[in-house]
Amino acid sequence: MNFSKLPQLVDMRGELKSKGTYSKRSKTITYRVWHHSLTKKYLAGSDAAGFAGYHVNTLGWPGIGYTFIIEPMNVINTPNGKRARIVYANDIDRRTYHVGNSNQFSLGICVAGDYRYDTMDEATLASIAELHAALVKDGVGKYDKAHNEMPGYSWKACCQYNYRDAFGWKGSKTPVKPQPAPDVYTIQEGDTLWSIAHKDVTGGVQVEELINANPGIDPTKLKIGQKINFGNAKEVIVQPDIKENEETSDSGDEVVSSIQKTLNSRYKAGLIVDGFNGPKTKSALIKALQTELNKQFNKKLVVDGKWGAKTKAAIVTVAKGAKGNLTWILQAALYLEGFNPGSLGSNFGTNTEKVLKKFQGKKGLSADGKAGKETNCLHDKICVK
Ligand SMILES: [Zn+2]
Repeated sequence: MNFSKLPQLVDMRGELKSKGTYSKRSKTITYRVWHHSLTKKYLAGSDAAGFAGYHVNTLGWPGIGYTFIIEPMNVINTPNGKRARIVYANDIDRRTYHVGNSNQFSLGICVAGDYRYDTMDEATLASIAELHAALVKDGVGKYDKAHNEMPGYSWKACCQYNYRDAFGWKGSKTPVKPQPAPDVYTIQEGDTLWSIAHKDVTGGVQVEELINANPGIDPTKLKIGQKINFGNAKEVIVQPDIKENEETSDSGDEVVSSIQKTLNSRYKAGLIVDGFNGPKTKSALIKALQTELNKQFNKKLVVDGKWGAKTKAAIVTVAKGAKGNLTWILQAALYLEGFNPGSLGSNFGTNTEKVLKKFQGKKGLSADGKAGKETNCLHDKICVK
């Protein structure tokens, strides 16, 4: 095979995270389908190992969903010049999950990066062009398609680079604009509610919204061909799980309920949304923290929801001006500890700082308004009990 002789190709079959094997294709490969990863190209985890972890751990797939992954962050010096590394991840005769019902006859190639924002560099363009030329020579596939040119995916923002121009190695930025997600989605091979929610990159549908928009379906028993509400799931208003006329002492706390819902949808915590601030909720919050530290800072923590020495050592400082999931986790932790930061979102503003200082003061820490190892620390004080 010509592709296996490319000097920038690394054979990692059998070495990436997996939990099982994909079955053999029952049809020959017709399409080479081009994807991007929707993760910024230099972000930690924007590589084959990162995608394998996501596909196996989060989506529950047997292994990484692509056959080839091109990694702009790993540049290799070859006799032909600088090239982005190409990871060979699955045998080409394996029917991996990447385009639902078209998987049997489609080969998945992913270029790491979010090409709605990233620009493509020469080393990456060269690897695309050379891999493409080799596959054509090898007779692997007949046609090239972007993910959103495959049946059922016209709404998807994948891929967002002009793959046809890349084959000519000129580079270009005239991506096809994604359309809104369809109102009704047909379940395809490999789908889970989590993978479906992830598909909607334009509207950001949450798993809890899919569950709410599809009261009749069992999330663990999706059937291929089954139709579910999708694009309009976003509009469904999620009612708090508090019954009218209940005693306030029995009804749980609305903010705790919202924390539990977010832990369920964002981190698959599987909590009962009852608004009670108990050990399961706290443990789920520590898991969320461990997940984010792994994802954002490549900390390689065991996600066990326990507050151990390794997790403590991995803590990063979150301070005013911070944005993102770690800030949300901090705010949720403050709230669970009885210090209401006002609103729970993703922005570390004046209110969060004020409440954090109050917390630090009450706990006898130096009140610098920063949550991190040094003040040792919000998460520590909260989680050690
Ligand atoms: Zn794709």
